[in-house]
Amino acid sequence: MTKKELVFLGPPASGKGTQTSRLSQELNFPHVDTGSLLRKALAEGTPDGLIAKSYIEKGQLVPVEIVASIIKTRLKEADCANGFILDGFPRSTEQAEILEKMLSEIDADKDVSFKVIYFDIDQQLLLDRIIYRRSCAKCGKIYNLQSLKPQCEGLCDECCSELVQRKDDTEEIAKSRFDTYFTETAPLIEFYEKKGVLTKIDANGEVEEVWDRLLEAVK
Ligand SMILES: [Zn+2]
Repeated sequence: MTKKELVFLGPPASGKGTQTSRLSQELNFPHVDTGSLLRKALAEGTPDGLIAKSYIEKGQLVPVEIVASIIKTRLKEADCANGFILDGFPRSTEQAEILEKMLSEIDADKDVSFKVIYFDIDQQLLLDRIIYRRSCAKCGKIYNLQSLKPQCEGLCDECCSELVQRKDDTEEIAKSRFDTYFTETAPLIEFYEKKGVLTKIDANGEVEEVWDRLLEAVK
């Protein structure tokens, strides 16, 4: 059986998170999310976690070698033997090369299919998702004043509590977040395109439409 390795790339609010959890269940592959992995290593105080913590406490970035080591330990676990979905890493071509080396060590002579899926989405649509996003102060349910309106203005359908906007969900902050993302990711996309392993999926539109495209892409 061919081992299926999937790397997911996509800007914040592209719907990547929702689709990833669903695909993880559908394929029965673990969703290896770098952010959660790092938090877990810190909480459990693993050797890598302790080193990471010492950097964070000094207000410094955790070195890529430590992050890579945490990911490698996770990808070597038994539930990743037939495949995995990696999310949040790599973020640069340097990291992509580290991943390549890491996987060649883990996989040795295994039969492997490696694919990078990019959630391609219109930037204005992304901005609208963020600017119009509101959430319930009590139960956390998410609304969108354009596409997923509450039944009563300003109130949660579930618990009637007040809907609030996150402080950083302004157009200015969202724009700068996307600019950073696209600037960082552009070389990475080119890197994987050249290797012939990149599939761009159209992430505009309804969740079900994007889901169908995603299933087609990972076949
Ligand atoms: Zn609520």
